[in-house]
Amino acid sequence: MDRLGTESAFEVLARAKALEASGHSIINLGIGQPDFKTPDHVVEAGVKALRDGHHGYTPANGIPELRRAVADDLNARHGVDVDPDCVVVVPGGKVTMFFAVLMFGEPGAEIIYPNPGFPIYESVIRFSGATPVSLPLREENGFAFSADDLLSRITDRTRLIILNSPANPTGGVTSKAEMDKLAAGLANYPNVALLSDEIYSRIIYDGREHATMLAYPELRDRVIMLDGWSKTYAMTGWRLGYAVWPRQLVEHATRLAINDHSCVNAATQWAGIAALQGPQDSVEEMVRAFDDRRRALVDALNAIPGISCVEPGGAFYVFPNITGTGFSAKELEGRLLEEAGVATVAGTSFGREGEGYLRLSYANSKENCLDAAARIRDWLAAQQ
Ligand code: PLP
Repeated sequence: MDRLGTESAFEVLARAKALEASGHSIINLGIGQPDFKTPDHVVEAGVKALRDGHHGYTPANGIPELRRAVADDLNARHGVDVDPDCVVVVPGGKVTMFFAVLMFGEPGAEIIYPNPGFPIYESVIRFSGATPVSLPLREENGFAFSADDLLSRITDRTRLIILNSPANPTGGVTSKAEMDKLAAGLANYPNVALLSDEIYSRIIYDGREHATMLAYPELRDRVIMLDGWSKTYAMTGWRLGYAVWPRQLVEHATRLAINDHSCVNAATQWAGIAALQGPQDSVEEMVRAFDDRRRALVDALNAIPGISCVEPGGAFYVFPNITGTGFSAKELEGRLLEEAGVATVAGTSFGREGEGYLRLSYANSKENCLDAAARIRDWLAAQQ
């Protein structure tokens, strides 16, 4: 258990709630979940499923109707040919992460992961006994992956590479050209598998197209593509995610599911079908609102002396460089929360390469985002 890490955004949230409860005004830009509600038709589908008597266990890998809906959605959006039998439905994106790392991680094995990156990657890699090999992501590249950089970290002990685009915590998006380069390079390493975390695939801006790792048939027998409903349909609390597994690993993923959670809540699975097959206007509306806040927050942060912020291409986070303020990330996180009433997350919560940065989530109203930037500006000015 000592090897298992955590996600400190949950600790920031608890501290922010405690401060609020004791009468402080807190603007929460710490949290990684949409501030939107699950679309009504999806909620209704969940309620209907309960009324219709979907109260029992389901197949461990998910109901066939949902696995088919996932495959249809992916095939329509990306022009690929995913077989529903390769889809394993799980209670949230995190579960696939754990399963994949448990399958490939063991003492002596190396797993490459993005840094800064979602903190659970490094946590579960260490838990598995494998050696985490950090892939630093650079501000000057917009925090996108560099295929050359990644390939240069592969050794004969590398078992798995974790990719995440669009990315948490940076909002970085890796281009199709870079993914193509990576896919070509991986031909030289046939024993290396990939976990592609595409949970923010639909939250992407400026006309960019999401580059999925499912697009490479030659890699299909070693790519695990993780996505889910949490972010796209504002369903974090429903606990619903899926992965497309290589055919030969489906049985293992299903066995892990049987050992771990039996199946996802039945009504949630029916709601998941409604989300995929129903109108998508709520997704488009949410992404438009995020986009508007993104631009406003980036501009407001760049106007603060000591802070500079690249414009992220996806997800709902900005990752400003705060080195000019003279504070470490952790100190700034703590003091902004306690003294300025703004909850953020220190970049170091996402790996050591996150020193010098803060993560701000704009899953909050535009007004609150701008108010938070003003509070940060005024607090920093008062420290001079
Ligand atoms: N992957 C990334 C990059 C995330 O940021 C998150 C949630 O914050 C997840 C996966 C997990 O999402 P879920 O709520 O579906 O478990």
